[in-house]
Amino acid sequence: MPATQRFDSIWLGADVATLRQGQYGMIKDGAVAVAKGRIAWVGPRADLPASPGAARHDFGGGVITPGFIDCHTHLVFGGNRSLEFEQRLQGVSYADIAAAGGGILSTVNATRGAGEEELLATAEARLSMLMAEGVTCIEIKSGYGLTLDDEIKMLRVARRIGQKYPIQVRTTFLAAHALPPEYRGRADEYIDVVCERWIPEVAALGLADAVDGFCEHLAFSPAQIARVFAAARRAGLPVKLHAEQLSSLGGSALAARWQALSADHLEYATEDDARAMASSGTVAVLLPGACYMLRETQLPPVALFRRHGVPMALASDINPGTSPACSLRLMINMGCTLFRLTPEEALAGVTLNAARALGLGDTLGSLETGKLADFVHWPVKHPAELAYWLGGQMPVTVVYRGERRR
Ligand SMILES: [Zn+2]
Repeated sequence: MPATQRFDSIWLGADVATLRQGQYGMIKDGAVAVAKGRIAWVGPRADLPASPGAARHDFGGGVITPGFIDCHTHLVFGGNRSLEFEQRLQGVSYADIAAAGGGILSTVNATRGAGEEELLATAEARLSMLMAEGVTCIEIKSGYGLTLDDEIKMLRVARRIGQKYPIQVRTTFLAAHALPPEYRGRADEYIDVVCERWIPEVAALGLADAVDGFCEHLAFSPAQIARVFAAARRAGLPVKLHAEQLSSLGGSALAARWQALSADHLEYATEDDARAMASSGTVAVLLPGACYMLRETQLPPVALFRRHGVPMALASDINPGTSPACSLRLMINMGCTLFRLTPEEALAGVTLNAARALGLGDTLGSLETGKLADFVHWPVKHPAELAYWLGGQMPVTVVYRGERRR
């Protein structure tokens, strides 16, 4: 006879993919019990302790997974670049588009020109698509303002999203994303300002949970990024890095030396980079949407990450230039088809390893006693279906902090 425990709610009638240790961890005919917004018990329904008074929710089939976590997004931005997309397909070169004020600069101008309310409204439209497919935690970066006021504006919008919606938001300060036009030819001076004034100010305002940069020939050098990381450490903020997307500059090894939470993109990462990331516990965040949109043929070295035990996450990288991706489930499919992840690895990539990439591995990402009660019920027979179906919307039930999200 099972013991008695006090639960607020019990969710059962489905198989449970716990994602413990990044594996499916399937419990046939399982149950998840919640108390005070946390998972109080998870296991086979037959072993469920009695809990008089707990609300019981019977799904009548399907699979429960942890809530999805989108650990790399540029959700907040002004305008979009669909007309550029069309121009490129009509044969206009990227250089001509950039010379006419297109490319990332057009997003910077549109973001600077938009008020907080407008940025919030356009971000909400994209957010609703991610939430509808089970995203319960999202990271949102700044990086299109590139003045202190405009970067703060973006971070405020991100914070407001977390206050307004039942979703956890982690904000990342990404002033080292691109060189603002007013600093052309003076990248070191820009980095000085970011390090000496902006990072301390944003940290003092409590607007950032992490600091990120873009280490690439067309952005910032490893030496410049190292200064950004040092400033982040002085401000008490963890770091992440866009690294090895277009060339091998050693950004991911640099990130590992600074105990970065994650290094992201990584198409050109080497075995030494993988070793360094494994030893620092830095998560490899893979972004198949950008790879796809750019028709990149160089793929991230998944086999090396596996061999060296680097945890791999997947994210939408939703942004107006290289990844206008409004579906994390589509990213799971692409992680499998383009990068050859297994469906199990891909699912771990949007749950446990995505949580680790945000420094939240202790509270989110798997269905284990003591973690926050964020989970999703899917109308599928096996979790591999989440990687298999190409697009489309599934009717999901999302539970956030133990409450059904509407
Ligand atoms: Zn990015």
